[in-house]
Amino acid sequence: MTFDTLSSDQIQALLDEQTAAYETLKASGLKLDLTRGKPSPAQLDLSNELLSMPGADFADAAGTDTRNYGGLTGLTELREIFAPIMQVPVEQVVAGDNASLAMMHDNLVFALFHGVADSEQPWGVEEAVKFICPVPGYDRHFALLEEYGIEMLPVDLLDDGPDVAAVRELVKDPAVKGMWLVPTYSNPTGAVVSEAVAAELAALETAAPDFRIFWDNAYAVHHLTEQHTKTADILGLCSASGHPNRPVIFASTSKVTFAGSGVCFLGSSADNIEWYLKHLAKRTIGPDKVNQLRHARFLKSVDGVHALMDGHREILAPKFQAVVDILNARLGEHGVASWTEPKGGYFVSLDVVDGTASRVIQLAREAGVAMTPAGAAFPYGDDPRDRNIRIAPSYPSPEELAAAIDVLATCVLIAACEQALAQ
Ligand code: PMP
Repeated sequence: MTFDTLSSDQIQALLDEQTAAYETLKASGLKLDLTRGKPSPAQLDLSNELLSMPGADFADAAGTDTRNYGGLTGLTELREIFAPIMQVPVEQVVAGDNASLAMMHDNLVFALFHGVADSEQPWGVEEAVKFICPVPGYDRHFALLEEYGIEMLPVDLLDDGPDVAAVRELVKDPAVKGMWLVPTYSNPTGAVVSEAVAAELAALETAAPDFRIFWDNAYAVHHLTEQHTKTADILGLCSASGHPNRPVIFASTSKVTFAGSGVCFLGSSADNIEWYLKHLAKRTIGPDKVNQLRHARFLKSVDGVHALMDGHREILAPKFQAVVDILNARLGEHGVASWTEPKGGYFVSLDVVDGTASRVIQLAREAGVAMTPAGAAFPYGDDPRDRNIRIAPSYPSPEELAAAIDVLATCVLIAACEQALAQ
């Protein structure tokens, strides 16, 4: 992407104009943060009923006192609500504490120390363990792998899922033990893994007999339009292809109720759940059942979850629209950037001129707008084209968001002009 039709004098004029606008913005003392996909206070308010629950009636449907120890799999009535969302039988769903990221962490660590259900030995004693990482992707997935010395192999995330041809090549290496996937409204591009791609991944012949797909469905019900995209049934597809233990499915209510005090879920084959619970039993006596009980009573049913998500959509959709509108208005005519228009999830992914993302983020920071660091959506923080920027529109107020995206657009133009003039 470049200024195809502009002369260098015209680019210089644009740079002067944008620099003047930038200096004015900088002087206005902005302090805006678009770094993380946090729900806004208005979104959190939708679940305030939880704060006074469960009250004096703290027994679950089976009559268990939720205040006490035990119940490793989590409360049945809450698992019943999330089992259909995860497309896993309720007996194969575990409800945990507040962070699915912690479940992902534990799955990796248990695998490294013990191997998974069909491993010959612990992953940790293998010479190398590698994971396929669709990019751009979720920085914390990559941070987890880096933390434990698991080598990351990037593949392109396309509109309908990862580049399957590239994945097919990589899984010929027996050291490749798994891959990340955010199947619905991925972080950050909003891509949705199609049924066809999911079926191909389910059927892949992998050199490692204990290959796992970490299917992180963090945004399963987080629609931004009337269209309710249905996630592919990865467990059914893998079972039908003779690989029932391949998928490990994660979800949580972090962006449904309270991001810091929600409930997370793991779904998988019966063998994998047995394996997980065996190791989990050493780590904890049981989850926070009081929190699970109040969630079950507050959400009530799958319809209850969707109704709550409609409330989130009302708050979020106009913010996403504003981001896209401002980017269009400010950048559309120049052809120096492209961006996603997601139908769900929490992010807009912006690609700027190759080699300028770091500069854009630096300029934005100096003008008081904090963005996720350049390269964050890539393993080892390395965006080979230095072009991807993740925008998280959820937390700021509409006014703050508009101001921040305006600054960002100015920075994109300045960096693009600088680059074009330097060539
Ligand atoms: N997975 C993805 C893809 C996410 O974007 C996030 C939150 N940004 C998480 C997991 C974190 O989930 P949790 O709060 O359940 O740990």
